[in-house]
Amino acid sequence: MARYTGPVCKLCRREGQKLFLKGVKCYTEKCPVDRRSYPPGQHGPAQARRRKQSDYATQLREKQKVKRMYGLHEKQFRTLFENAAKAKGVTGENLLVMLESRLDNVVFRMGFAPSRNAARQLVRHRHVEVNGRAVDVPSYQLKAGDEVAVRPGSRDNLSVVASLESRTRPTLLEWLTLDEKNRVGRIVRSPSRQDIPLAVQEQLIVELYSK
Ligand code: SF4
Repeated sequence: MARYTGPVCKLCRREGQKLFLKGVKCYTEKCPVDRRSYPPGQHGPAQARRRKQSDYATQLREKQKVKRMYGLHEKQFRTLFENAAKAKGVTGENLLVMLESRLDNVVFRMGFAPSRNAARQLVRHRHVEVNGRAVDVPSYQLKAGDEVAVRPGSRDNLSVVASLESRTRPTLLEWLTLDEKNRVGRIVRSPSRQDIPLAVQEQLIVELYSK
């Protein structure tokens, strides 16, 4: 499946907010969202001047924002949404919980990688194991009690060390534990909506896909 390989800062500008897609660089470089607060492209400034957005446009932008934060394609995102709709509970919350439970996201949240993109690469290159077995599928769904670790041969991997030592590393969330020295973490419990620090209105995504 083709992956977006263009400039990621354009994705943030399109959504009009910082999505922190470049990891540490988002804190150390000048952010284009601050410098050019209008969408990319020839008609970007004109779009920014247009005042009112339709309901559909608002829902679409919210969906695109979440999809880009987690680095998913439309088909992957849609499949996850359908699984969330089939599961018990509130669909929007289920969707966010499933996104948070992806292996690449947990590797990022534990601080083994500076961004979800970098975490995906770490997983793909077989540097990560789940419950003692190598897993190279970034979308792998983790559950309460699962242990996530950097594989023994990769514990001193430079990017892992730099990420763990970074001052911009996100605070460890309550539903995770981490033994930094041994590069091992655990999912203490499944996250709830309150445990997910994302300023998104997931209900808009549900409304969009329910049309
Ligand atoms: Fe987004 Fe980071 Fe680029 Fe800013 S520097 S636009 S937050 S990817």
